[in-house]
Amino acid sequence: MPFDLVTIPCLSDNYAFLLRDQDSGAVALIDVPEAGTISAKLKELDWTLTDIWLTHHHDDHIQGVADLTANHPARIYGAKADAHRLPALDNALVEGETFKFGGHDVQILDVSGHTVGHIAFYVPAAKTVFTADSLMALGCGRLFEGTAAQMWESMQKLMKLPPETIVCSGHEYTQSNAKFALTVDPKNDALISRSREIDQARKDNKPTVPSTLSLELQTNPFLRPADPGIRAQLGMENATDTQVFAEIRARKDSF
Ligand code: ZN
Ligand code: FE
Repeated sequence: MPFDLVTIPCLSDNYAFLLRDQDSGAVALIDVPEAGTISAKLKELDWTLTDIWLTHHHDDHIQGVADLTANHPARIYGAKADAHRLPALDNALVEGETFKFGGHDVQILDVSGHTVGHIAFYVPAAKTVFTADSLMALGCGRLFEGTAAQMWESMQKLMKLPPETIVCSGHEYTQSNAKFALTVDPKNDALISRSREIDQARKDNKPTVPSTLSLELQTNPFLRPADPGIRAQLGMENATDTQVFAEIRARKDSF
């Protein structure tokens, strides 16, 4: 793949990502939880930042922008719908829009639910999608602004991407997500073995992010409301996918 992808742990449990296009040398940073660690990583790699892509307005995803751009000027991309609560944008983006990164397309998906205006950045040539607090490893973001129906619609957009797509989400929440997932999908062998791998990774202090869409499709209950095993576990055999999704989200909130 003509791209380099670097995961940067930030704050207590956030992730920022650097994506570098090897042909052009363009470097995108996805979300800016803090400036210091990211600036140090850029220095270590000797990369020049060209783009900052913001997924949503929460502080833990944008609060490092001012400090970082003081030393690493870059074009800032974010959702037009959130322009009033994001740092000043050079490019205000809407659903379905495509922009260029190096010579490659970046596609914008509206993945509202956690917030209204949350976007995902999909880079087909890199087989990578940056989902932050929408689709997460074994989970999905809490519904602070949107409805369960909205989040389920967002999940379905992401489910249509190629299964080999690398999913870069915004937090290290996977271990607790796995504990919850097992309560609604206890007989899923793929989930049981993933959960063991996650426990081992966390014991070794390794990140569990990014994951792949195919793994999420097999194990993430928030992508599986149609699954007969989950429906049986919840006693919701005849409910709609949206109703099952909403029930899973509600149970997770009180887990
Ligand atoms: Zn958030
Ligand atoms: Fe967050």
